[in-house]
Amino acid sequence: MTKRIGVLNLQGAVEEHLQALRRARVQPVSVKSVSDFDQLDGLIIPGGESTAIGRLIREQGLENQLRQFHQEGKAIFGTCAGLILCSTDKTHETTDLRLGFIEMEVERNGFGRQVASFETSLDFQGIERPVEAIFIRAPYIQSVGPKATILARVDDKIVAAEQANVLVTAHHPELTEDDSVLTYFLSKC
Ligand code: GLN
Repeated sequence: MTKRIGVLNLQGAVEEHLQALRRARVQPVSVKSVSDFDQLDGLIIPGGESTAIGRLIREQGLENQLRQFHQEGKAIFGTCAGLILCSTDKTHETTDLRLGFIEMEVERNGFGRQVASFETSLDFQGIERPVEAIFIRAPYIQSVGPKATILARVDDKIVAAEQANVLVTAHHPELTEDDSVLTYFLSKC
């Protein structure tokens, strides 16, 4: 049966993920409310502005649903702002939403606000060929807890990790034609 993969559609790079899912021949689902979580095999939390997405998650009453989806062991993929939302991020005093799905501390806009965007190729654990990666005002991961696995780095900065059913990348895989990270995620769904 075709997998049904949701994209949290509150703010950010939603359409690009829906298109990438179509290319991958799975069924994309735009997720805006609790009922949209029905029968999903996986969920993507897109890039955008983590503060705005977090606020909308709370306003739309989706926080518990997200936590339940995670507890059920369903696959979740956070990209960029989505990575920030999946973190524990105890280093920063913030009231912004942090779902704590991966034990990790993040540095928002970690590559600097000025030289904000760049493209590079990544050695990505579990993917044979180098991954084409676009970073836009991206965070990096400062440290991960013992349950998380580091999947990629740019210089000494961690930019991809996974823990159980959750995968995160600081880059935007949906903005390139390189679907290898999406394929990797779909293998977990
Ligand atoms: N800088 C954004 C944030 O802190 C993330 C940028 C992105 O998702 N492309 O939320």
